[in-house]
Amino acid sequence: MLKIFFSALLLILSQIVHAEAADITMLFVGDVMLAERPGQLIAQGKDPFKHVQAIFRAADIRIGNLECAVSQKGQSEDKTYTFRAHPRVITTLKKYFDAVSVANNHAGDFGPVAFEDMLQQLEKKQLAYFGGGRTLRTAHEPFLITVKGKKIAVLGYDGFFPRSFEALEDRAGVAWLDADFIAADIKRAREVHHADWVIVVPHWGWEYEKFASSQQQSLAHWMIDSGADAVIGGHPHVTQNSEIYKNKPILYSLGNFVFNGFHDKETTTGWIALLTLTANAEVKWKTIAVRLDKNGVPHVIPD
Ligand SMILES: [Zn+2]
Repeated sequence: MLKIFFSALLLILSQIVHAEAADITMLFVGDVMLAERPGQLIAQGKDPFKHVQAIFRAADIRIGNLECAVSQKGQSEDKTYTFRAHPRVITTLKKYFDAVSVANNHAGDFGPVAFEDMLQQLEKKQLAYFGGGRTLRTAHEPFLITVKGKKIAVLGYDGFFPRSFEALEDRAGVAWLDADFIAADIKRAREVHHADWVIVVPHWGWEYEKFASSQQQSLAHWMIDSGADAVIGGHPHVTQNSEIYKNKPILYSLGNFVFNGFHDKETTTGWIALLTLTANAEVKWKTIAVRLDKNGVPHVIPD
């Protein structure tokens, strides 16, 4: 009797393990700015990601927003804050990320020369990027990765000015947050690239606003209506509200992740978002809160 009980228990356990083994876990973080203090730490041989290493290691796919130019070239644009990191930071990024989004309002801070040089540096060191490219077409290509037999496409868009960072037919730049482009890109990810899962990473919203704007909300709904499985946003330097729409998660802003120069509780709190893409086509999610120290380095906040 006991033997039957144990073999039944083993069967159930193996089914649970099997189901979990087929799940795909994706990790997303918000703004990673590797100029200034975090850049100095890397130059000194230190690692701004070391306190969150174990969480990154446990995920199948790791994605972040690279909120700076990475180049030794170019000249700063005429704007209040400009960030340019040394190309050495890519070696550190590569330890933690499968791909980075360049769709943001700082990737073009040192002009198109530095932007294109960043793309070249990322390619040379084989760190995938998305949300930007040398032409309009390539800027709108998704990051594609196959894990456990499933293809995942990740699309990035910047909706925060300056719009001069936008990629055009004959100009390198970022993919602009435009409803028509988004719908066409998601369709292409499904039909041309045969993606099983499509995730959208928009850079949007008003800085320091704790709640998403009606424009963010309507665009997020548009993304899901167009076929996205999740929307994971950023830019406002604070975390924003989340929502489930048609059973798909929308996290409007993950806040800062590696970024110095912020001091209050809201701007030094960020989220690591963990999505689980399950074998039965569900998307589950949770967040882990981090606190950024004075060097802009994240530490997990204990529960
Ligand atoms: Zn931003």
